[in-house]
Amino acid sequence: MPLISSTHMLQIARKNKYAIGAFNVHTLEMLQAVIEAAVETQSPLIIQSTVGTVKHLGPDYLAAAATVAANRTGLPIALHLDHCTDFQLIVQCIRAGYTSVMIDASMYPFEENVERTRKVMEVAIAAGVNVEAELGKVGGVEDDIVVDERDALLADPEECSQFIERTGVLTLAPAIGTAHGIYKGEPNIDFARIAQIADRVAAPLVLHGGSGIPAEQVRRAVALGMAKMNIATELRIAFTDAIKQVFTANPEENDPRKYMVPAKEAAKRLAIEKMQLCGCVGKAGEVR
Ligand SMILES: [Zn+2]
Repeated sequence: MPLISSTHMLQIARKNKYAIGAFNVHTLEMLQAVIEAAVETQSPLIIQSTVGTVKHLGPDYLAAAATVAANRTGLPIALHLDHCTDFQLIVQCIRAGYTSVMIDASMYPFEENVERTRKVMEVAIAAGVNVEAELGKVGGVEDDIVVDERDALLADPEECSQFIERTGVLTLAPAIGTAHGIYKGEPNIDFARIAQIADRVAAPLVLHGGSGIPAEQVRRAVALGMAKMNIATELRIAFTDAIKQVFTANPEENDPRKYMVPAKEAAKRLAIEKMQLCGCVGKAGEVR
């Protein structure tokens, strides 16, 4: 089957109280790793790329590789553009075959966030593409977007509801205390806020900064309405650490397959672990 929009799969996930793992990939092997994890566990899958990776690899290469995976496996797979601030790049990715995009205008005042999100909705909905928007500010670093952790502002539940009404956006990433990257201490997740947002908003919610959140806290957030969990940093670390191990053991190694194969395996194991944590294992059949 071709790549599908992430809208329907996320709505089913929210309704049935699990989340779908959304993995940021940077190389073909990382993309294959998360696909193999999805095949092995029969999980629905969202493959994501940051703006930096889209520029690095090209949206057409990424869309072509993800399309091959969807066709070969028959699994429900969506290809998502993570944290994009650039309308033109969003249009370019949709043209290349992306089935889901994030417009991140969370750094602008509320009204401007609404306007920028609506503009993306117009082009995306006509193309059958899901749109994710952000309210409040997720702390930490995501490619070139840096938010001072101290200034990270959490999403206001009432504004979330107004935002959905005004934009019609289908997936919402509210800042609820998570941060990008690896946590220095325990993340300080505002669960009461998630519950208040979920009460007012029927759309699937997205948990950003999923790397390193303790399992119990992930389960709690998912039970409250988080239907998509983004995993970037941990996947990258698993992949890269495996490569480092190969070079530590054999600094002269020069066959890419010799370090890419173990790297792919490590990323795949991590992805399976996260799919289990999300509760999406075995759910491929029900989200089609
Ligand atoms: Zn994020």
